[in-house]
Amino acid sequence: MKVLVVNCGSSSIKYQLLDMTDESVLAKGMVERIGLEGSLLTHQPTGKDKVILDPEIPDHSKGIALTLEALVHPEHGVIDSLQEIVAIGHRVVHGGEAFADSVLITPEVMNVLERCIEMAPLHNPPNILGITACAELMPYVPQVAVFDTAFHQTMPKYAFLYGLPYEAYEKYGVRRYGFHGTSHKFVSQCAARLMGQHMTNLRIITCHLGNGASLAAIKYGRSIDTSMGFTPLEGLVMGTRCGEIDPAILPFLMKKERMSPDQIDRYLNHQSGVLGISGISSDFRDIETASTAGSERAQLALDIFAYKVRKYIGGYVAAMGGVDAIVFTAGLGENSPAMRDKICNGLEFLGTRIDHDKNNIRGKIAEISVDGARVKIFVIPTNEELVIARDTKMICSGLM
Ligand code: ADP
Repeated sequence: MKVLVVNCGSSSIKYQLLDMTDESVLAKGMVERIGLEGSLLTHQPTGKDKVILDPEIPDHSKGIALTLEALVHPEHGVIDSLQEIVAIGHRVVHGGEAFADSVLITPEVMNVLERCIEMAPLHNPPNILGITACAELMPYVPQVAVFDTAFHQTMPKYAFLYGLPYEAYEKYGVRRYGFHGTSHKFVSQCAARLMGQHMTNLRIITCHLGNGASLAAIKYGRSIDTSMGFTPLEGLVMGTRCGEIDPAILPFLMKKERMSPDQIDRYLNHQSGVLGISGISSDFRDIETASTAGSERAQLALDIFAYKVRKYIGGYVAAMGGVDAIVFTAGLGENSPAMRDKICNGLEFLGTRIDHDKNNIRGKIAEISVDGARVKIFVIPTNEELVIARDTKMICSGLM
């Protein structure tokens, strides 16, 4: 059973073709700069050389068509015919309150996705374009939507409502939704397996630390709180996003700097975070290098980032009445022993401590807490594509 996983951004398409009989990746790749000059497709068939093509790619439809061509290409392809693809799974960023789980895409589902555009104007339109392009090119293949927001739909109302007039929620759906749900779900399940326990016995804090970063409090298998909110801007300081700030700063800065709503949106989403604080880069590798070389602002960016994560961990321990495991994942969480150490430094009161030797790893599954610690600390590489493929397989198996 071969499943194609598609993740469409505004100017990019990431894809993976998986053989779900053994969950192996047959090929993966990325279409970049859609609609821009210099568009390209990078295709990596497993066990063969990477191929880079640079045709004109004016829209997502062409990007999907090129992806499918690459998969069946006589030299760098990995399947003989598109008929081998039995289902397509799409990452969809925002499912609003309508979806607490992955879903088979039907015309009714598409209508709801259209309605969610208002809440995710940057993310949902390209997701919809990808689904439509696949439906045009492979009309008989079932498609599944897997939502970033779905896993967090278990949050209680007191955790997801803001202190705004209740009408803002009723009229416009203004509430906290949370994101990175597929990742939080995947790594928490993996941690439970490593502990030889069922999720329903565990309280886990998952730290997804990449360009976008969020934490989740997962109590007995259900997400009860997460740091992102109405949009992925809330919560931690991130690569270029400001995270939580006093909302009064917005009108203040808009007046002072004469910024329009679009300009302040850009300022908060693309010019802030560790990029804005350090003035150097949004990439933690650059910031760690600059800090080692003596840059005070790079050091400050790292200090602020780690402090926020530690504060959230403390908050989530209180929210869950304790914690059994803390998991680090995504680019920074998987690859930076220094940041993991910095975050955990001060959490010893929880009954945990990082083992510095065990922590000296990158990009692989490991328990990094000292032997015998009551609270385990893990590094677990995330795999959102695999979750999407698994959900797609599960939902589509019943149709075949
Ligand atoms: P996203 O999917 O949100 O774009 P990733 O999960 O790929 O992001 O994480 C990207 C970030 O991870 C980079 O910006 C970088 O800061 C960080 N990162 C990746 N590798 C390392 C490393 N070896 N050391 C420190 N940070 C790293």
